[in-house]
Amino acid sequence: MTTQRYLPPSALNPFLEGLPQTVSKRIIGKSVKGLPIHLLTIGTGNTKILMWSQMHGNESTTTRALLDLIPWFLKLSQAQLQKTFTLSIILQLNPDGAKAYTRLNANDVDLNRDAIDLTQPESLALQDLYQEVNPDYCLNLHGQRTIFSAGKMGKTASLSFLAPSANLERTLTPSRAKAMQLIVALKRAIEKELPEQIGRYDDAFNPNCVGDKFTQMGTPTILFEAGHVPNDYQREITRKYIFESYKTLLNTLFSNDFEHTTNEYFDIPENAKDCVDLIVSGVTIRNNNESLVNQQLAIQYEEKLEGDAVVFLPVMQFFATQLPLKAHKSITLPGELKNKEISFEKGEIIQNEDFERLLSI
Ligand SMILES: [Zn+2]
Repeated sequence: MTTQRYLPPSALNPFLEGLPQTVSKRIIGKSVKGLPIHLLTIGTGNTKILMWSQMHGNESTTTRALLDLIPWFLKLSQAQLQKTFTLSIILQLNPDGAKAYTRLNANDVDLNRDAIDLTQPESLALQDLYQEVNPDYCLNLHGQRTIFSAGKMGKTASLSFLAPSANLERTLTPSRAKAMQLIVALKRAIEKELPEQIGRYDDAFNPNCVGDKFTQMGTPTILFEAGHVPNDYQREITRKYIFESYKTLLNTLFSNDFEHTTNEYFDIPENAKDCVDLIVSGVTIRNNNESLVNQQLAIQYEEKLEGDAVVFLPVMQFFATQLPLKAHKSITLPGELKNKEISFEKGEIIQNEDFERLLSI
């Protein structure tokens, strides 16, 4: 099974074909380019949970964690959960984006901004399924970029959650409060392993976002964002924590143990964009015909699909002696490279043989 960031729909075929008879499989719609949108239904319980992943095609971590969750849930040892829950799972809502490794669908539409207009076939498939299932809970599964810190100048946001607002006033409607309480349970369970690395998203109401709309319609909905763990660019470690979160969510609902205070939800630090991938110190930068020695250079990796792998290209972001940013990794140039000039161009990929090995992931 693939463990890579790039997870095209074809990579899921062996998994789908290997599922036991007890799993109900159905195609609920087609993408813009005609790819099937698969629905898997497992469990026979009265509590219905609808979850969809890869609504943004290049966010595969939560999908890979579903590939862990499904066989775990189907084990004999989970018979109680199987009798309690019915899980309706869409592994890839945006198969065209998953294939092309893009956030958007094949019409360049952000499916998470199409909840009101429903202009895309993928949006309609999800909306129809929501009406049909009438879920008790929804999980909106995403991945986030490496720029996010858990709080201002905080640590890397390795996991983030949101209980979306149901109205402009962001009131604590019963469904929103329930989603918050569940997030508190997730945070409590995971924070021992990821201290200060759990963040919370901005809760400005946007009914074009699917989570906001479903919360407004009365379904507690949780946004999951699989983030970065330093050095884990394939996000296999994050995948493990997302899998933990799924299991915790089911066990919490099963034991009905989530009457936590919603105040604790607001204690989770709100995400800020204060991180960069790499800060290199001791760089000589050519700028406006001047040679500036001993500078710091901030680098952000750009993801690009090459063949069937995602490559990470180092892009120049900022330089200064004092950067108001936190880096996932910091290095100092070895002596022989300190005098090699780099001309700084914000947004340019560094293509310099001398630095290639140092900057590669
Ligand atoms: Zn997303």
